Amino acid sequence: MDLYEHQARQLFARHGIVVPRAEVTDTPRRAREIARSLGGRVVVKAQVRTGGRAKAGGVRLAADPPAAERAARRILGMEINGHPVRSVMLAEAVDVDREFSVSYVLDRAAGHVLAAASAAGGTEIEELAAQRPEAVTRVPVDPAEGVTAAAACRIARAAGLPPRTVDVLIRLWRVLVREDALRVEVSPLARTARGAFTALDGKVTLDDTAFFHRPDLAPQPPGDPLEARAAARGHVYVRLDGEVGVLGDGPGRVMSTLDALARRGARPAGFLDTGGTLTAPALADALALVLADPSVRSVLVDVSGDPGVPAAGEAVTDGVLAALDRTRRAVPVVVRLAGGRARSIPAAAAHPLVEHAVTLDTAADRAATLAAAPRRRAAPPAHGRG
Ligand code: GDP
Ligand code: MN
Repeated sequence: MDLYEHQARQLFARHGIVVPRAEVTDTPRRAREIARSLGGRVVVKAQVRTGGRAKAGGVRLAADPPAAERAARRILGMEINGHPVRSVMLAEAVDVDREFSVSYVLDRAAGHVLAAASAAGGTEIEELAAQRPEAVTRVPVDPAEGVTAAAACRIARAAGLPPRTVDVLIRLWRVLVREDALRVEVSPLARTARGAFTALDGKVTLDDTAFFHRPDLAPQPPGDPLEARAAARGHVYVRLDGEVGVLGDGPGRVMSTLDALARRGARPAGFLDTGGTLTAPALADALALVLADPSVRSVLVDVSGDPGVPAAGEAVTDGVLAALDRTRRAVPVVVRLAGGRARSIPAAAAHPLVEHAVTLDTAADRAATLAAAPRRRAAPPAHGRG
């Protein structure tokens, strides 16, 4: 059973994939009101269970509410691939910088799920694969592993997707598994002019036997409070279900760190990407967020110790100590400064919960070992620095 677009997007939103605000109606009058409530500039979209709506004229951009009413009137009279249009969805228009596509499809014959992704644009994946097979990358998903952070990194890398799509890949996997879907697809997955990723169109096929037993498809309150707190501070935080907290200053670094942990069988509790170099207070703030997850047993901080920035080592150390001062939990933190300043850690930075590592591999080793060690009982007294 294929869902309508407006139902598919509710499932995306339920699992934390960002979708533009939207509402469905079957009258042009109401379309005008909805457009006004969405800020005026909207996309008017036929709700039919078939693709290629845009090509058939079933997707129109409207600059203001009267234009939305006119577009709705035209679309509501249409028939697309033999499907009469009975309702339209109005969605706030998004300024698109670039379009990608991602999907998971259960291959029943093969007994596993295939991820398919493309950096070439927002065309439906199978249509794109028919026209330009080289533009679509397919990666089998290990059924025992699922799409973990490490697996999502591999898919993104193989398909040439930007690292920040890892978050969407993990969440889309949750839609597939938790909603009993046979196929989930976001096409286009758009990068907005402001650098955020949002699902502009989507397809979900539910298992027919599951569909009729499903609770309603109403949206649920948005995801994880920690993820929301991080987003409010301009960080990307993704909560996972392991024990090692990961903090990195850039998607490439975060990916390598997750890979290094995966090679040791250590599971990330979540990862926070600060998106760039940080001051000590900002790093403290970011690390405090990672430490706020009660399932975190150790943290691996992997950040730049740029040799061109003489104070980098000190800023990182100050940030880590400030975050530990703020938390009551005794969680060990392994710090690795990439880029050659590992030995520039001030001696005054000694702290019973902080270890420094020179290479990523030794850092991952220590973080994995510390996460597996028995829990420490009490926090040490607040750390006085003089
Ligand atoms: P489809 O033809 O049934 O796949 O309909 P889509 O929902 O994918 O819309 C077709 C195309 O319209 C997309 O690939 C986008 O390029 C474009 N589009 C849809 N919504 C928006 C939007 O909010 N802003 C912009 N700029 N383009 C949009
Ligand atoms: Mn589409």
